[in-house]
Amino acid sequence: MSETESVDHKTISGISANSGIAVGNIVCIDNKRRKVLPKSISETEIDFHLKNFKEGRTTLITELSGMLDYLDAQSGSIIETQKQIILDAEVEKRVESLIQDHLFSSDYAVYKTFCDFIERLKESGSELFQQRIVDLENLRDRFIDVICDDKKSFSIEKGTILVTKELSPTELVSLHANGLSGLVMEKGGITSHAALIAQSLEIPCIVSAKNATSKAFNVKGILDGREGILILDPEKEILDKYKIKLEKLKKTQRRLLKNINEPSLTKSGTEFFLSANIEFESELGQLAKYNAKSIGLLRTEGLLFSNKIGFEDQVRFYESVLSATEGSVTFRLFDVGGDKLNAKIPEEANPFLGWRGIRMLLDEKDLLETQLKALLICAGKNKGRVKILIPMVSVEEEIFELKKVIATLQKDLSGSGYKIDKEIALGAMIEVPSAALNAENLARHLDFMSIGTNDLTQYTMAVDRGNEKICSLYQQQHPSLWKLIKITAEASLKTNTEIAVCGELAGNVLGACGLVGLGIRNLSMIPNAIPRIKEELISHDDSELKELAESFLAASNTTQIKEIFEDWRVH
Ligand code: PEP
Ligand code: MG
Repeated sequence: MSETESVDHKTISGISANSGIAVGNIVCIDNKRRKVLPKSISETEIDFHLKNFKEGRTTLITELSGMLDYLDAQSGSIIETQKQIILDAEVEKRVESLIQDHLFSSDYAVYKTFCDFIERLKESGSELFQQRIVDLENLRDRFIDVICDDKKSFSIEKGTILVTKELSPTELVSLHANGLSGLVMEKGGITSHAALIAQSLEIPCIVSAKNATSKAFNVKGILDGREGILILDPEKEILDKYKIKLEKLKKTQRRLLKNINEPSLTKSGTEFFLSANIEFESELGQLAKYNAKSIGLLRTEGLLFSNKIGFEDQVRFYESVLSATEGSVTFRLFDVGGDKLNAKIPEEANPFLGWRGIRMLLDEKDLLETQLKALLICAGKNKGRVKILIPMVSVEEEIFELKKVIATLQKDLSGSGYKIDKEIALGAMIEVPSAALNAENLARHLDFMSIGTNDLTQYTMAVDRGNEKICSLYQQQHPSLWKLIKITAEASLKTNTEIAVCGELAGNVLGACGLVGLGIRNLSMIPNAIPRIKEELISHDDSELKELAESFLAASNTTQIKEIFEDWRVH
């Protein structure tokens, strides 16, 4: 049976996006997206519509600013990005031109501007941007509500478990403030923005729950985030069982946090390193909270998204990240399929197999050189702490070409009097099967490799990682993945090249145990996963972990791997 099918008529199943248990009343909403048809205005109405747009924008900014008061850093940064989008000069120019030059009403001008932007993101092939589309659709719809003075928004009672098609971060944040206790979404992957915010706000959450809105009804329910199930109208015995589970869970959370200052050693005394995946500046506070000394993956696409790709903006951002971190920071070069600022996103038949990551960067030399220059200057000031990571490498020549660009820039910079770090570490994401299979050759030209299991799963299983129709095939723990990881780990050993894993598998208990079992000691993950992973790894010795990894490699499917892990854990 697939992960998204119902277990029985009283249970709705999906994929766990955040663990935890919620018991409360279910509210089911079918939130349809807006459709605004073109409406023409006369020239005498232009001023009214321009004013309407500007006033709507101010109201929306006030609304979003109000949310920041009760948000943590991660969620706050998402709202900050939304504010920047609303205030973006390009958005203003387009909306005003649609009103003034094309005589469209303000609501249609906003609708059309956002829809065009969303279309370009859809075509970009960037997973990160695909996941942000729901945020933009919500932002667009809320903007139109405000312009049309449509107060439509719904409120919930404290403790509610919400079942819906999809939710944007803004909606989730305001529902959380009203006391939302659990979330079930039909759409979205485990890396969708709403799922990330649910983790940050510690709301139990299930995604990709097929037909959940037509199956659920407004009764009492239990949401078991870890198991990925919502139980409708539970019997008393089930409720009692979950009350006990809930108590246990609270105890575990208290215990986990106590561990974070303990040494990171397996029972055999082998050291491992857990670092953080970070995207926004405002997430930096999480480093200290979870005692992460290094950033194993700094995603830089947020800079593109918020239009901050000028040299000065980049230097300021990179310096701020470095000064908030004790150890090294692995800066990944822009991993997108196009540059929204100069409308170069092309239409491609297969964007995920298209002009992405290093493929695009080597064609877009200005974009690449500005980013490298900013990073090389920061590296000169922070010797040994800046690492550069190349996304989407599929062939060796991409590394050669990038190295040439770096060497020329270093020469120019040192000629202009800048300090440079001649030993700056260069690594490649191993996220395409060709890179994993050829890792030994790639490694000879690199200082480190970082396995991106999210994309490696997508490209190995031939499954679009954001497509909920086939999400049951998006199996990060499949034996084929373990085989590719093993080849990469062996290549690292043979060539004496550092290796890390920065995909979601590293932040998963089964995944982390298997990876350390294969000899990989550097794992980078969403910061709040660190305590749980640490607790698991410190409680096993090396031979147990090795034996586990060997059984994963011998298995023939993911179900077997999960069973092997459960058995291994209890014995
Ligand atoms: C990955 O592909 O595993 C990865 C870490 O990068 P992203 O999720 O940003 O594609
Ligand atoms: Mg990737």
